[in-house]
Amino acid sequence: MTNRSKYYIVFVIMKLGKKELEKKLSIFKDICYREGLKITPQRLAIYKELIYSFEHPSASNLYEKVKKYFSNISLDTVNRTLLTFNRIGIIRVVEGSGNSKRYDSKLEPHHHFRCVRCNRIIDFYNKEYDDIEIPAEFKAKFIVTTKRINLEGVCNKCRVQVK
Ligand SMILES: [Zn+2]
Ligand SMILES: [Zn+2]
Repeated sequence: MTNRSKYYIVFVIMKLGKKELEKKLSIFKDICYREGLKITPQRLAIYKELIYSFEHPSASNLYEKVKKYFSNISLDTVNRTLLTFNRIGIIRVVEGSGNSKRYDSKLEPHHHFRCVRCNRIIDFYNKEYDDIEIPAEFKAKFIVTTKRINLEGVCNKCRVQVK
């Protein structure tokens, strides 16, 4: 039986500290170097905008921000850059994010809550979800490397509006 009181969910609303920012940028540079991906000012700008955003932005959200500095950048370039970043493991695509892909620069284990009304994607941490047991029959067939829980529902902001 599960002891429900043991469940805890921490919503993370935080700003990125200077140290964390430097750490992320150094990981970014290391991976680019390892994968032979040239760090162009545009690529760096796309990555920075993604790490500054806690809203799991789409390619077009990031395009709107980056084009302020690089007026001739195209949405297609932003799209392709994000897919490349995802392929080499710098960022990841948020599963179940609906029509347009949403991106996450946070690589450490965490889970998502998506609001079906406003499409906000909120991070949360839960140790028990990280350690969730895989069914034996599934384990016999597949190798599970990542466990992520996606919750869906109505967020606190939208809940208030409904009343
Ligand atoms: Zn909402
Ligand atoms: Zn996330």
